[in-house]
Amino acid sequence: MDPAVLVSQVYKRYGNLEALYGIDFSIAKGSFFGLLGPNGAGKSTLINIMAGLVHATSGNIKVVGYDVRKQWRKSRQILGVVPQELAYDPFFSTREMLRLQSGYFGLGKDNYVWVDELLERLGLGDKADENLGNLSGGMKRRVLIAQALVHKPEVLVLDEPTAGVDVELRRVLWEFVRELHKNGHTILLTTHYIEEAESFCDRIAILDNGRLIAHDTTNALLNRYPYRFLRLSVKNYSTQIPEKLLEKVVLNENNELTFRLHREDDNIGDVLDAVQNAGISFTDLRTDEPGLEEVFLALTVKNHD
Ligand code: ADP
Repeated sequence: MDPAVLVSQVYKRYGNLEALYGIDFSIAKGSFFGLLGPNGAGKSTLINIMAGLVHATSGNIKVVGYDVRKQWRKSRQILGVVPQELAYDPFFSTREMLRLQSGYFGLGKDNYVWVDELLERLGLGDKADENLGNLSGGMKRRVLIAQALVHKPEVLVLDEPTAGVDVELRRVLWEFVRELHKNGHTILLTTHYIEEAESFCDRIAILDNGRLIAHDTTNALLNRYPYRFLRLSVKNYSTQIPEKLLEKVVLNENNELTFRLHREDDNIGDVLDAVQNAGISFTDLRTDEPGLEEVFLALTVKNHD
């Protein structure tokens, strides 16, 4: 079975800049896949190549077996890309634009029911006859999502869908996207909000400086970070923290001392003994497992030193 997306040896150069350098990965059908990376990592470039908006310098991308360049009609039928900006004619109404978009994919009037359902689901019901030019920024974002879904694409690509979006739209969006995923759609998400990727994505690829630096299941990535955190609520203390302890302290503020402890090399009992021996008494303690944010920072910051 063809994967939903197959990225093979993709290079993209802008002049001397290697925006993408030999990217290889695949996204299985039905996956909720996260593409992460700091600004300028190459995420949008990769998505634009996938959507046929930019051509790779070499290499190729296939969407369910169809080459995005040679078989672009087919691959565009399968992909629904939610871009960050809406390119639209301000004199069309929301419904008219969605119907036109539907026609562009060769779909007839039968699909108008789906257009109206999309309008309802995305809270655009009462904006259906409004000219696009009159919609607020938040409403335009909803139209973008509807536009990408008009032809019920098998693979939905969300490029930073929640950047600058209010809480209500986030909730509507995630509820809808989760439902689409449950119904078998493959989802590719790029986001700056790492917690979103952590809670929704089953697999994650991390790009940095145009290179793929990690590609794994979310759980495996989380397990790669061999540290956890010990947080102690401490009383005011007058003694100096001994050097050996101090090197494990990552935060010391508001009467809370946070230690970063290696899962295997550090023993919490020994650390607590050392704290007490140093004359520091604490009133509460808790341990926190690292999140994807720590893994992401550990992987990407390393490359920028
Ligand atoms: P991301 O989406 O991860 O923030 P981009 O794909 O937008 O990253 O950009 C990757 C790199 O390519 C950046 O250094 C960016 O400045 C550069 N870049 C993107 N588009 C162009 C372009 N049209 N011309 C020249 N450089 C570009």
